[in-house]
Amino acid sequence: MGNENEILNVLILGSGPAGLSAAIYTARAELKPVVLTGLQMGGQASLTTIVENYPGFPDGVGGAELGELLLKQAEKFGARVLYELATEIDLNTSPITVRTENSELKTRSLIMATGANPVLVNIPGEKELVGRGVSYCATCDGWFFKDKKVVVIGGGDSALEEGLFLTRFATEVTIIHRRDSLRASAILQKRAEENPKIKFMLNTIPLEIKGTEKVEAIRLKEILSEKESLINADGVFIFIGHSPNSALLAGKVEMDQKGFITVNSFMETNVPGVFAAGEVADPTFKQVITSAGMGAAAAIRATHYLENQTSNS
Ligand code: NAP
Repeated sequence: MGNENEILNVLILGSGPAGLSAAIYTARAELKPVVLTGLQMGGQASLTTIVENYPGFPDGVGGAELGELLLKQAEKFGARVLYELATEIDLNTSPITVRTENSELKTRSLIMATGANPVLVNIPGEKELVGRGVSYCATCDGWFFKDKKVVVIGGGDSALEEGLFLTRFATEVTIIHRRDSLRASAILQKRAEENPKIKFMLNTIPLEIKGTEKVEAIRLKEILSEKESLINADGVFIFIGHSPNSALLAGKVEMDQKGFITVNSFMETNVPGVFAAGEVADPTFKQVITSAGMGAAAAIRATHYLENQTSNS
């Protein structure tokens, strides 16, 4: 990057569809945005095998491929991308200060597009066996379960989509859902129901994941009968939703009770010059297209904000 005293126009935290769309728009406005990628370049979408509902890709597009295309597009227009993680944000300074492990950046405006992280089910054995059979990403870990039996927890789109993906490797995929009906979209429900490798256990909650070196079994409770059971499994994949990655701004901008950053329809937070886009500010839609749209909107408003700052000074 340029010299260490440079004051950036726009700093974008996050490299998912929201962050990179904001980068494309602010780069095209010649604001020379800088993107801090965070830990996962491309965000959560890049961990998805295939995105089938992003407009313009009638045959679907790989999640990682979409991330690479967005990155290429942003860089083509002059966005600078740093493979770093923000560790601290100080909104009391002017310009705003953002620290990473390696550097300190000063910026006139900030677009927070840090996305969300998987929610834990919080049962014994979960944390202990992460990486040893417990996973939150079928695309990343599915391959390790070739010819094995896996369990998927959750009843939403993620659970079914990832469960379907796991049938490429596993001999049996049991989807465990706490209610009697699934939340997932009809098209995914139909595909899962038609897949001979998928079994459903409804009205069932997980109680404990068992195993010493690796996952061996999962203890479950059928909630109507309160009957407990133990089923053997080599892997447990958990898809019960996501929580926003907003801790860096906790107490600094308005958020709802779950930590989603509150934005108005212009993607503005309650702090001038600070915008938020994508899943960190979206408790409702959580789609690649809506995140990308929020990123574009935040970029357009950040551009206006900077223009007003210049004309008022
Ligand atoms: P979600 O829609 O919030 O579903 C979470 C699922 O986990 C629900 O079925 C929920 O049960 C269950 N659950 C929540 N807490 C639980 C707990 N403590 N124990 C057991 N089960 C629990 O989350 P998601 O599936 O990750 O999807 C998030 C968003 O991304 C959605 O808007 C979804 O449409 C979207 N998405 C779309 C696609 C696609 O279009 N292809 C793919 C993936 C995700 P209840 O149903 O009882 O609440």
